[in-house]
Amino acid sequence: MQKIDNIPKTMKALMCRGPHDYKLEEVPVPSINEDEILVKVEACGICAGDIKSYKGAAMFWGGGVLPPWNDAPCVAGHEFIGEIAAIGDNAAKKRGLVLGERAIAEQIVPCWECRFCRDGEYWMCEKANIHGHQKIVADGGMAQYIRYGARDVVHKVSKKILAKYAAMIEPLSCSVHTIERAEIGFNDIVVVAGLGPIGLCKLQLAKLKNPRLLIGIDNRPLRLDLAKKLGADYVFNFEQCDTVTEVKKLSGGYGCDIYVHNSGHPSGVIAGLQMLRKHGRFVEFSVFQQETSVDWSIIGDRKELTITGSHISGLYGYPVAIDFLERGVIKVEDIVTHTFPLEKWEEAFALAEKGASSIKVVLLP
Ligand SMILES: [Zn+2]
Ligand SMILES: [Zn+2]
Repeated sequence: MQKIDNIPKTMKALMCRGPHDYKLEEVPVPSINEDEILVKVEACGICAGDIKSYKGAAMFWGGGVLPPWNDAPCVAGHEFIGEIAAIGDNAAKKRGLVLGERAIAEQIVPCWECRFCRDGEYWMCEKANIHGHQKIVADGGMAQYIRYGARDVVHKVSKKILAKYAAMIEPLSCSVHTIERAEIGFNDIVVVAGLGPIGLCKLQLAKLKNPRLLIGIDNRPLRLDLAKKLGADYVFNFEQCDTVTEVKKLSGGYGCDIYVHNSGHPSGVIAGLQMLRKHGRFVEFSVFQQETSVDWSIIGDRKELTITGSHISGLYGYPVAIDFLERGVIKVEDIVTHTFPLEKWEEAFALAEKGASSIKVVLLP
């Protein structure tokens, strides 16, 4: 095992104990074996999912994962990045990594035993254990150190990217997978609904496919303005106009070809089904806090729609996201609006939840 000098015995970590019961605590630094890696966390983004979990929503990542307090206490956070502070000999050999390098683990910790893991579709793992959501498997990154285990999927990341931007690798990787699933063609009119950090990444990725028209929808002016700057041909504020009418106007009355939904709100589903043309494609990524009720006959009888789901980062989401950030293909400088020290996590969560003046809020442990 190799390790840097002066790794402390204890660290600060944001522990989830239950809904509205998160505390910054002094806990032991994780110990590692020869198959594992200890990483000193440089940054960890706050996801909309972290806030939903904090408020007590049951998150069903991958069809059955419970909120973080299921195995409480658990360190929160799955959008982490850091440098290797200690590495076991087996881990170093298996992963081709050395001490001091920057490395990221994917948010999912595959079981490598279920049919999906065995078939190479590990992001659909039946157990769906996520860093920061089940302590039994993997703590999260809102702490000074994090352990990457033997089952983790680990990638090397260049230090050329500032840490606060490297915290965008996880949301960008999810965006990559969604846009691959969207199968955008040159003649398509594409709508990206919900322009949070992930929506703004998807908008840029969709732009790389050069569709005929790219449209962004949200209700927050800061995000709509940024969407315009990042390549949207049109942006619509759903509180100020009828988005279905506007999109139909731009498409000869037919509707958009592809609707990428990230808002997590039922109204975004209903609007999407209405603004899609016949034979259009609805791509759903959101995690909802409530059920959606729609006129299901639109999908079959009226429009013969294709409904495509998208879950986390897919097979190549991380490598593509890392490459795109290293090469500056995707811009996240205006998406990461705020950073806070870990001690100010409450203020950071509150700002991220309001989202009027912020987009992505990142903690720097
Ligand atoms: Zn996330
Ligand atoms: Zn599995």
